[in-house]
Amino acid sequence: METLTAQKQDIKEVIKKSPLIISGPCSAETEDQVMQTAIRLAATGKVDIMRAGIWKPRTRPGSFEGIGTKGLPWMQQAKKETGLPVAVEVATAKQVEDALHFDVDVLWVGARTTVNPFSVQEIADALKGVKVPVLIKNPINPDLELWIGGMERIAKAGIEDLGLIHRGFSSYGNTEYRNAPMWHLAIEMKRRYPGIPMINDPSHICGRRDILQEVAQKAIDLDFDGLIIESHIDPDNAWSDAKQQITPEVLAEMLEAIRWRKDDVASAEYHAALEKLRQQINQLDDELLQVLSTRMKVAEKIGEYKKNNDITILQTNRWNEILERAVSKGNKVGLSEDFITKYMDAVHMESIHHQNKIMNS
Ligand code: PEP
Ligand code: MN
Repeated sequence: METLTAQKQDIKEVIKKSPLIISGPCSAETEDQVMQTAIRLAATGKVDIMRAGIWKPRTRPGSFEGIGTKGLPWMQQAKKETGLPVAVEVATAKQVEDALHFDVDVLWVGARTTVNPFSVQEIADALKGVKVPVLIKNPINPDLELWIGGMERIAKAGIEDLGLIHRGFSSYGNTEYRNAPMWHLAIEMKRRYPGIPMINDPSHICGRRDILQEVAQKAIDLDFDGLIIESHIDPDNAWSDAKQQITPEVLAEMLEAIRWRKDDVASAEYHAALEKLRQQINQLDDELLQVLSTRMKVAEKIGEYKKNNDITILQTNRWNEILERAVSKGNKVGLSEDFITKYMDAVHMESIHHQNKIMNS
């Protein structure tokens, strides 16, 4: 009993480490695969926790749905051999019970589970009175409230060591990514819950190996607290997510190549220079707001004319002209078409809002 308590204390510390590195196969497949992966991951000296999926929620039936409870003793054995704490995904009360029975150190809630409050509540109920760190993946749809709700349910069960995993959001159609990162959602989550570690999952964002490194680097540049990356002893023949897995040795190279950033430095020169530039940014933002406010007043005047002449607010031709002009001008001063389009859309909607107030008053 005493060793168990000691281990749980340790995991509380491990989970707070930054950067926290979690790696292991998408799925536990065989006893040998789990053990070999653990040994090779431990040999890199760069991994804090080993992950493996035991129960796999698959989008379509017929894919490998996980080895099930029989894989848990393999994880337990791998931990014993290597000293690496282990993490698995849980989606039901029974899975929580089984995982804890076999001494799993860290649990995570998968993206397909976070979307379902009934499932998250079932997990939360099974966790009452248990002290185990729980990581909550973002839901597959870009809904921050659902992600927060998932975290709140687990927190209310008395779980103190919580973490978040940003694994991207699914969308229809082929994109560069398997799951669009939509970084702003993770950034907003970090802003709202600064005390909760935010870990990035490049594997499920990318769905392929060749861009793992750049996504991982981006997460580190955005001050994420760690990475969870899938690794396999024979990635091409993995039973799930073969395209995105890498060997433990490639993982080690990748971690070696990442430029780890700190979020601050004790240099007066750096702080003074930054402070000056930040004041410039504030000044420019103030000016931008002032200009935007003036622009809205002009739009309101146009609204008066439209009202008096019973003209529609939206004039598609004029809107096209504004947009084309802005994109072309923006281009010349180094602003991307994507940004200008989003920015002008927002400005245009605000103008319509102002004109609407005038025309319907
Ligand atoms: C996984 O981690 O293997 C997994 C199923 O991920 P997600 O829940 O992000 O799809
Ligand atoms: Mn996977």
